[in-house]
Amino acid sequence: MRTLSQALAQVQKERVAIGHFNIADLVLLKGVVTAARELNVPVLVGASEGERNFMGTRQLAAVVNSLREEYDFPIFLNADHTHSLPKAVEAAKAGFDAVVFDLSTLHFEENAKQTKNAVEALKSINPAILVEGEIGDIGSGYEIHEDGPGPAGKLTSASEAQQFVEATRIDILAPAVGNAHGMRRSMVTGQERKHLDIDRIREIKAATGIPLTLHGGSGTADKDLKMAIHAGINIVHINTEIRLAWRQGLEYGLSQREDEVVPYKILPAAVASVQQVVSSRLSLFTSPQVR
Ligand SMILES: [Zn+2]
Repeated sequence: MRTLSQALAQVQKERVAIGHFNIADLVLLKGVVTAARELNVPVLVGASEGERNFMGTRQLAAVVNSLREEYDFPIFLNADHTHSLPKAVEAAKAGFDAVVFDLSTLHFEENAKQTKNAVEALKSINPAILVEGEIGDIGSGYEIHEDGPGPAGKLTSASEAQQFVEATRIDILAPAVGNAHGMRRSMVTGQERKHLDIDRIREIKAATGIPLTLHGGSGTADKDLKMAIHAGINIVHINTEIRLAWRQGLEYGLSQREDEVVPYKILPAAVASVQQVVSSRLSLFTSPQVR
């Protein structure tokens, strides 16, 4: 079985990316895993602190681990946006493959100091665990936001990125390169798309040389995603788009069977809806040519 580190080295070589999808229940997990197995590509399943609290950190790790063993398939588990060391330690002890240690709202020096500490603490629990750090502002909340100008987030510079990587010894960096969490209503309808600063990604990659993650990938123009991956992005996070698919699929499943109370007769519509979005994103992330 490949490790996450090996899978990242492989995508880096092929200039493709691993898709990262957040899950909060078995419907989402099933949609993600089915799509990845069908396409035969590695996949990252993510759970934020809120999602872990809902499902149980150890319970989630046990379910993902059992799928990985049963199918002998590279499904990796990431503790997304973890804001404190105790929560990061909990995930490492439960067997997560990676942790996003996110203190990006703190000043650079404090963020670097505490992230360095976390890297040491987490690697002492599991030397193979990958730790991702974050600098710059990519907003919070994987939700549908009202339209209007978004907050002008601070973008990450290449020199800052290099300094942060050297100071912390993180394995993966999440920079702010025009990406943002959540989607505006105009993006749900497709009238508007997010655009990325491709040159900045290229500069950050050259300055750090480590795997880079794009957070808040939902609602981004396909062409920008392809160019970003080609420029050095190795992991792309999609959350809001599959949350939307989950809700729409669930509503459809309920509407098709008005008096139905059997969950496994209603929920397959939600699984199919999630699977379709994951499949479309994974196909895009893993096809090497830039269109
Ligand atoms: Zn994120």
